[in-house]
Amino acid sequence: MICACCGGHVTWRGPLSNLTHTECASCGAVNAQLVDQAGDATEMVDELPEGLRRDESGAIEFQCRSCGQWAEWPGEPEDFEFDAPENLCGGSPRCLP
Ligand SMILES: [Zn+2]
Ligand SMILES: [Zn+2]
Repeated sequence: MICACCGGHVTWRGPLSNLTHTECASCGAVNAQLVDQAGDATEMVDELPEGLRRDESGAIEFQCRSCGQWAEWPGEPEDFEFDAPENLCGGSPRCLP
């Protein structure tokens, strides 16, 4: 990303799992990156709740609480609860509710 103030290099800051803001390496400006105006690109980035991800085909996956495998999430992203005990993949006997 490019800084809107000085044209310098802007990078994300914060822990990898929770990037909080961007900062310019040259002038230190916070969240000053030039935003790509391509509307289509930003629409593709949808926010998934913690614990969910999308695979290459766009299907939503959750991580099994038992074995840690990623399995398809059959419901809506809003229905997912990160701490729910039923977040099991069902792929083996120990992964059944
Ligand atoms: Zn800058
Ligand atoms: Zn499992």
